[in-house]
Amino acid sequence: MSVTSPERPAETKTKRVLLAAPRGYCAGVDRAVVAVEKALETYGTPVYVRKEIVHNKHVVETLRERGAIFVNETDEVPEGGRLVFSAHGVSPAVRASAEARSLETIDATCPLVTKVHKEAVRFAKDDYDILLIGHTGHEEVEGTAGEAPDHVQVVNSPDEVDQVVVRDPDKVVWISQTTLSVDETMETVRRLRDKFPSLQDPPSDDICYATQNRQVAVKKLAPECELVIVVGSANSSNSVRLVEVALQSGAAASYRVDRMTEIKEEWLEGVTTVGVTSGASVPEILVQDVITYLADHGFGTVDEVRTATEDLMFSLPRELRAGLKAAGEEPKRPRREARTELPLA
Ligand code: SF4
Repeated sequence: MSVTSPERPAETKTKRVLLAAPRGYCAGVDRAVVAVEKALETYGTPVYVRKEIVHNKHVVETLRERGAIFVNETDEVPEGGRLVFSAHGVSPAVRASAEARSLETIDATCPLVTKVHKEAVRFAKDDYDILLIGHTGHEEVEGTAGEAPDHVQVVNSPDEVDQVVVRDPDKVVWISQTTLSVDETMETVRRLRDKFPSLQDPPSDDICYATQNRQVAVKKLAPECELVIVVGSANSSNSVRLVEVALQSGAAASYRVDRMTEIKEEWLEGVTTVGVTSGASVPEILVQDVITYLADHGFGTVDEVRTATEDLMFSLPRELRAGLKAAGEEPKRPRREARTELPLA
């Protein structure tokens, strides 16, 4: 499907955009953002949110304007206050600290992150050494590792495998952060297995469907692109991974931007095909701004490159559903409006 502006000069018609699909919001991000919106609507301000609800500047700024107060730790919330845990999840220590302050918590942890937490708990109970492939310092990794701190060690990259030491090489399992590069993770696993042949796999993929789908779409379009623009924030792991995947898959250049205003005109010099995608925490409006910018610079044709269709949706957090019900509101929520896939050039 493509949209071509008839007014544009003939020579610019060869310039095109390949727009990745799927891109943007995943089910876990959608649920977390709606949870904060609904909490504000239902309970009024103040509603506190621990860390960024999702790793996107625009989303955080928008929710802050609506009254959400973002904090780093539970002790910044007044006793008895209402606190939302972000989509990245929290450790049991954070839950205990919230409980000690009698906070009313709403847990917006993505269910696919919770699944990894449960794996960590189960393997720790069976006394495995758990190798958590992920990035030290990322909130999700802190939360997952915090489920079993005596059993988990974080492996950041394939190059760290040499330093891994375990108690019993026959009782080792790997699990992972949900937003990693699939290829790099598999390389880490390959090296771990060379070192520990009995290494056990997690029961199912930990890298989530949304991360995988967005990487597959970028892999498909990147070989045709001189430039791939990824919309997403610097602290968004899956957005940063998309830049890496684009470059590894053949794009001559790839840049991450938070918003359209960060695009530099010189990036477009000599370029005829630009790939565009966005991380799982990015609202579609930011992508459409990029498409409009590109159309204004002669890239008036947009072809969608779709590699999967997503229709997963998670129900709202349990505590919020109960609150909505008590307030006489319908706890179900409407699916967000179908987004505009292509720009009106
Ligand atoms: S990227 Fe994956 S794990 Fe993270 S919130 Fe989205 S669906 Fe959940």
